[in-house]
Amino acid sequence: MLIFLDIDGVMVPANSWRKPEFLEDGFPAFSKGAVAALNKIITASGADLVLITSHKAKYSIEEWENMFKRRSIQVNKITTLPNNNDYLNRKDELLKWFVAEEIKGNFIIIDDDKSLNGLPDFFKRKLIQTSALVGLTDYLADVALTIIEQSKSGIASK
Ligand SMILES: [Mg+2]
Repeated sequence: MLIFLDIDGVMVPANSWRKPEFLEDGFPAFSKGAVAALNKIITASGADLVLITSHKAKYSIEEWENMFKRRSIQVNKITTLPNNNDYLNRKDELLKWFVAEEIKGNFIIIDDDKSLNGLPDFFKRKLIQTSALVGLTDYLADVALTIIEQSKSGIASK
């Protein structure tokens, strides 16, 4: 099981009225609610993370692992999408990767990017779209776990 995870608007809510809090590693803190929600999903599903954030190529995998650990996320394996050299929007970037990797069904996408509303239905059913101002919530974690259960039993792939 893979979680395709964005960070801005998901783990770091967009507060235009307030400067984000940065930790010692120079990266913004994650919201407490988002940390609890992501841990809930990972604990229940054993999922690995695939980072799709535009920050993905700025850090090594080891740096990402440390960043998540420092923010109290119980990470398993972390990978990232390749650098988005073609400046595709998030939807096309993901679709390109899904086709290249022949990804079948065992995944969810957590992102606030509006371009993802244009995903084909099969992928859209696996999308948990956050509100950029709020980020990932406990309610959305439960939605994610329901989608994961459905994809295990094959319902979502029919
Ligand atoms: Mg975002």
